[in-house]
Amino acid sequence: MCNITTSPEYTGETKKCKCCGKDLPLTHFQKRGIGYRSVCNDCLKRESGATDKFKDFTSRELIDELKARGYEGQLTKKVVETIKL
Ligand SMILES: [Zn+2]
Repeated sequence: MCNITTSPEYTGETKKCKCCGKDLPLTHFQKRGIGYRSVCNDCLKRESGATDKFKDFTSRELIDELKARGYEGQLTKKVVETIKL
């Protein structure tokens, strides 16, 4: 008798999330290049939730959006680059 399982394919590979510290299957991580992100999707969502809807905006569009909402004054842009050595 064969034992057929219907559960989704699971290779058994897990990765520890840098943020919540949980060991999660690789399917819980976004692929980045040849590897995976070090933070799981849940944490990613939680961290970027507020800015998520703006992530596709260009700076110009963002400024127009803010103006349309009645914001005015100075907008300072700070570029944070993380370089892994
Ligand atoms: Zn996490």
